[in-house]
Amino acid sequence: MSEKKPPRSPMDHDEFRRIGKETVDYIADYLETVQSRAVYPGVQPGYLRQLIPAEAPQDPEDWEEVFADVDRVIMPGVTHWHSPDFHAYFAPGNSYPSQLGDMLSNALGCVGFSWAASPACTELETVVLDWLGKMLHLPEHLLAGTAGAGGGVIQGTASEAILVALLSARTKVIRREKEADPESSDHDVMKKLVAYSSDQAHSCVDKAAMIAAIKLRKLPTDSDFSLRGTTLSAAMEEDRANGLIPFFCCATLGTTPSCAFDKLLEIGPVCCEENMWLHIDAAYAGSAFICPEYRPLLDGVEFADSFNLNPHKWLRVNFDCSTMWVKNRADVVDAFDVDPLYLRHDNQGLVTDYRHWQIPLGRRFRSLKLWFVLRMFGVKGLQQYIRKHVSLAKEFESLVLSDDRFEVSAKVVMGLVCFRLKGPNTLSERLLQKINETRKIFMVPAKLRDTYVIRFAICAATTESSDIVHAWNVIREQAAEVLAGVQNGV
Ligand code: PLP
Repeated sequence: MSEKKPPRSPMDHDEFRRIGKETVDYIADYLETVQSRAVYPGVQPGYLRQLIPAEAPQDPEDWEEVFADVDRVIMPGVTHWHSPDFHAYFAPGNSYPSQLGDMLSNALGCVGFSWAASPACTELETVVLDWLGKMLHLPEHLLAGTAGAGGGVIQGTASEAILVALLSARTKVIRREKEADPESSDHDVMKKLVAYSSDQAHSCVDKAAMIAAIKLRKLPTDSDFSLRGTTLSAAMEEDRANGLIPFFCCATLGTTPSCAFDKLLEIGPVCCEENMWLHIDAAYAGSAFICPEYRPLLDGVEFADSFNLNPHKWLRVNFDCSTMWVKNRADVVDAFDVDPLYLRHDNQGLVTDYRHWQIPLGRRFRSLKLWFVLRMFGVKGLQQYIRKHVSLAKEFESLVLSDDRFEVSAKVVMGLVCFRLKGPNTLSERLLQKINETRKIFMVPAKLRDTYVIRFAICAATTESSDIVHAWNVIREQAAEVLAGVQNGV
């Protein structure tokens, strides 16, 4: 009987060196040729289960076997977000410096929840967030500096940043109300709290309000889909008269449906006068504020208690990296501070412990990828990238405007164009369905009030003018079929 060998380690250092290099080649080949693939996969729900065994293998498999399944099992079901034919959602961040930063973060594998858990992880994050804050010309009080009360943190997503802001504001207002009325309980205060955003704000604001068990009023916007100060103050007045306590407003710069901008210079003073927490969600458009010509859209940030943007959207950083700045770090720490013995360290209180700034305990070394990107593109390289996306969007807008079967449905300010076929919503619904069925380009819709629009977002870093023309040709071809179908009564 042969003696049973212990399973060998799946990959030693030398194998990793060889295979790792081959994998980097695979990644570079993939990204270099991504446009040769259909941008949207042709698989049906449940396709993958049929391609792999129902259980994990008992015995180790070879890398060659495992990796062959990437092409066989995974690639057929991948939506190619970095293809120049991808025009859905918003731009996804990607670049090689960022990928290398993530690789290094994975290799170091530190879980930097406190300064002591890996000092470089904490310290780089604080400094790089100051760098980015300065690129955006944020007010001094949002930066950490060496002794500031504020500062920056990297959250995984904008949804987390907004939830952190809302929970911090909730803790602060509960404390204030209980000081004013020591007889009242947390519950007494909470049931009176009301938060605000525009009716164009991202659904993650609704989700944050659900989690925080807070009433959220989504306020109507003006003809440009922007929230106005007067609308906010009227809503607050009404709520106060009904015994409610307005305490939080989330303004959006660059809304998801149409990339509209709330009027910060009107909303900010209202929040300040009313002692209400102002959070600014600039998940997509925020990156553009590194360009002086777009920075005026951020005027009013000086009124904000917190602000977030997603470098993982429009600043060449791969998911996940949502940068958030707060005016008063103590407000956040108060809401999230739990302090068991096993997490304490000797420098506690003297240094930043990011575990008190977020929902989870563990955190990755995400600042590495942001640091690599800022250094390897430089501010000028990133500005150039933003400007190119905006000019491609303008190019697409002119094509739409040149065809009188179509209309542009909202102002084009950044890299997003909302457009539609003139006439009933059903025409544009049918058009988008047919376009996406071709799998030549991929877009998603939005509703602007009752109007169905198709969103054309400039997404891939490699998108060129020829891709805009290609997309427009696909759209026109399909539109001709939809309109011919209508004429023939189909
Ligand atoms: N806010 C806005 C304005 C967005 O456009 C999005 C996503 O597109 C989000 C928030 C949510 O982003 P995340 O996936 O980082 O939570």
